[in-house]
Amino acid sequence: MSETLLTRFLRYVQIDTQSDETSTTSPSTPGQRVLLEMLKQELGEMGAADVKMTQHGYVMASIPGTTRKPNLPAIAFFAHVDTAPDCSGKGVKPIVHRNYDGSIVKFPDNPRLVLDPATSPELSAAKGKDVVTASGTTLLGSDDKAGVAVVMTLAEALLQNSKLKHGLVRLCFTPDEEIGRGVDKLDLEMLGAQAAYTLDGGPAGEVSWETFSGDAAEVTIEGVSTHPMEARAKGMVNAAYLAGKLLAALPRERCAPETTGGREGFIHPTRVDGRVEQALVKFILRDFELAGLAEKRRILQRLCQGLQATEPHARVQCRIRKQYRNMAYWLRKDMRPVELAREAFAAVGLQPYDHLVRGGTDGSRLTERGLPTPNLFCGEHNAHGLLEWVAVQDMELAVTACTKLVELWEQKGQRRSRARSV
Ligand SMILES: [Zn+2]
Repeated sequence: MSETLLTRFLRYVQIDTQSDETSTTSPSTPGQRVLLEMLKQELGEMGAADVKMTQHGYVMASIPGTTRKPNLPAIAFFAHVDTAPDCSGKGVKPIVHRNYDGSIVKFPDNPRLVLDPATSPELSAAKGKDVVTASGTTLLGSDDKAGVAVVMTLAEALLQNSKLKHGLVRLCFTPDEEIGRGVDKLDLEMLGAQAAYTLDGGPAGEVSWETFSGDAAEVTIEGVSTHPMEARAKGMVNAAYLAGKLLAALPRERCAPETTGGREGFIHPTRVDGRVEQALVKFILRDFELAGLAEKRRILQRLCQGLQATEPHARVQCRIRKQYRNMAYWLRKDMRPVELAREAFAAVGLQPYDHLVRGGTDGSRLTERGLPTPNLFCGEHNAHGLLEWVAVQDMELAVTACTKLVELWEQKGQRRSRARSV
């Protein structure tokens, strides 16, 4: 299996699928559609059922159930085709380090760049595996083409093994996860699943079922513009200066991404544009708990009110909008999707462990919308940068684990009917 998995992965990463926040189309970039078309074609060729691409670019397919058990939930597997805007994904030249020997990895197109097991400890554990990196000028795109290759290989494995008992399995490939629009236009009724998994995680055994809750804020400051020579007489109010004052007043030492970890949330300015006349500061607010998130909204709003009070001739406005919510709020009510994943991992010899996501996933939005969707490992490391790498054998483990997982759903996942006898 590892060779077809690798070939598939190498094929996918060479397509430039970087998403673009400034685009209004779906998918946001044409390269994503190229890969989505390719997946659609390959799904048809391998014999998947109901293969379709929606007008917004979601590719869905079915692996029909092989069991007669009634009341089994349909289980969906998701992976996103886009790569992060933070780092170029154009002209990716994947390099396969067969039977990786544990030494420092060098990059042909960027002699100054090194991937060192001393600074990337997880690399030491990949000794003896087939490690794939990029060539030094782009990201690799294992986030999330490792997941795409895993889901495609899982589909093929299920289709080729009709003796394996499972219920209906749905597949869904999505665009624009990296710009936070991954599931905006997804029709959950069309998908028709009762539980799902995103394959978009790190080392083997990782299960993620807790994410941040996130809001976004935009503070606009309108100043009063005059010629500098008569600024005092005409009452100049410099919006750029006020934006700086706002930033300086943030509780950065205990509430910024670079000063927090674990379960601590933060207020993070992501962009500043400022002139005398007007300034704009964009923020993201994050916390695992809704109460903590509300506190961060209050902190920002109070700072804005304070700024307004000290400078009545300016106009300070703070607009906050909801982005996503911690999936744990819903998953805690029914932990079966998480428990069965852990059980499947253990059954194939992996040590399952929970990973707290200091961010959001497509699963955060899907879970809130009613489709419980934890995230599972697929071997990604150092995502969004030049040092990204993945081991083929970790992707293979993800396929094996997910195969076990659909079997477990067949054995234990029957929907509980209210009349169930004790
Ligand atoms: Zn991802």
